[in-house]
Amino acid sequence: MKIEVLIMAKTGKKNKVIIVGGGFAGIQLAQRLNTHLFDVLLIDKSNHHQFQPLFYQVATSQIEPSSISFPFRHILKNKSNVLIRMAELTKVHPDKNKISTTIGDFEYDYLVIAIGCKTNFFGNERISLNAFTLKTTYDAIKIRNHILQTFENIASSKDGNVDGLRNLVIVGGGATGVELAGAFAEIKKHVLPKDYPRIDFSKFNIVLVEGSKNTLSNMSHKAQKASQNYLRKMGVTLHMETFVTDYDGNTLVLSNGKNIASKTVIWAAGVVSNQIEGFPPEVFTRGNRILVDRINRVLGSENIFAVGDIAYMETPKYPKGHPQVANVAINQAKNLAKNLKKIIRRREPIDYLYKDLGSMATVGRNKAVVDLPFIRFKGYFAWFIWMSLHLMLILSVRNKLIIFINWAWTYVTKDTALRLILTETDKSNPK
Ligand SMILES: Cc1cc2nc3c(=O)[nH]c(=O)nc-3n(C[C@H](O)[C@H](O)[C@H](O)COP(=O)(O)OP(=O)(O)OC[C@H]3O[C@@H](n4cnc5c(N)ncnc54)[C@H](O)[C@@H]3O)c2cc1C
Repeated sequence: MKIEVLIMAKTGKKNKVIIVGGGFAGIQLAQRLNTHLFDVLLIDKSNHHQFQPLFYQVATSQIEPSSISFPFRHILKNKSNVLIRMAELTKVHPDKNKISTTIGDFEYDYLVIAIGCKTNFFGNERISLNAFTLKTTYDAIKIRNHILQTFENIASSKDGNVDGLRNLVIVGGGATGVELAGAFAEIKKHVLPKDYPRIDFSKFNIVLVEGSKNTLSNMSHKAQKASQNYLRKMGVTLHMETFVTDYDGNTLVLSNGKNIASKTVIWAAGVVSNQIEGFPPEVFTRGNRILVDRINRVLGSENIFAVGDIAYMETPKYPKGHPQVANVAINQAKNLAKNLKKIIRRREPIDYLYKDLGSMATVGRNKAVVDLPFIRFKGYFAWFIWMSLHLMLILSVRNKLIIFINWAWTYVTKDTALRLILTETDKSNPK
């Protein structure tokens, strides 16, 4: 290392790395790239890192958006080698070692793509126009505003024509769908009746629609069964093995022949990678992910890498690619930080190896399911583990504290004080 630092001090030249995307992978890499060896440019279309696993708690008024959103300039304030630009990547030019963005072009020695995924509507444009998504902090705020506005509309309705307002539908029974359904069931029971004592909450329905036989498809059968039992007990209606075929903003059409009148449909049924112009078509594979080798190098490239959700890496144990989860994003970035150093020193890089630490999901107060490699459990202890792990992963001590206090307050009082509608949006169409 000393030799490189000396050479660089002499020539004044460091290797220029552009990281596009400051999610779990991008921020980890920016924090780890050696200050003496690399000049880093972090480009993100947003000005903050977002902790996606707790979006559902913002959507259900349990925590503040600011407690899970972290300004890049604050996180990286001590990294003198990192420059931050708020811009959107529009094209890569691999032959020119250059990218185009909404604020201009930038040249690189090494490019790292870490732009994650977006919601997959499976080509149904009408659904995409009318359903809510949960991929950004802003999406979560929009849902919160809309739900609270819905209850204001029900409370002030004079003609009693509120059918569409009374059905809240979540599409997709993965962790996001299950956690959202459980959280809505809890605020329906404990919180909203205090605010709206004249609304008959027995007529407010929370519906979860899932295309396959099971919720939490990547978890054990025990966890799947437990999550469904929890949800049913909490009053959530489950439509299993059912697909949504259409939604016009008022009526949801299901493959089982049923229609549901609803003004609130939240689409959590899958993701597809964000698109990038400039790569040849053979670089993209299923779900629009970018094919990478075992060191996250993009197929056919020497100095372009992709990490996190957007990267598709086949290994003997994961022949269909790794799961799109935070653990993979964080650890691919850690590995790449080490490898970039090795590459400039002309040493052999190390293959990425996924260590599956297990999965977990929470359904509500004292209700969670945990699958660890050596044990599976549910209930209060699982819920405690879920909370501890999420607190650990939250970035700043201040935010850990704020969230902990919020959770403790909610646990003791069964109440939250965050039911603010903060929008100027047209009330008839909050989207
Ligand atoms: C609601 C929800 C709940 C989840 N819960 C869990 C969970 O409990 N546990 C778990 O392990 N995983 C969970 N995940 C998945 C996890 O969040 C992802 O696997 C992880 O965020 C992937 O990290 P990433 O760095 O690849 O991408 P992301 O974290 O998605 O970051 C991508 C970044 O790129 C930026 N970006 C996108 N396009 C552009 C562009 N064109 N130009 C510039 N910047 C761009 C975005 O603004 C964003 O900052 C959840 C995901 C969601 C949506």
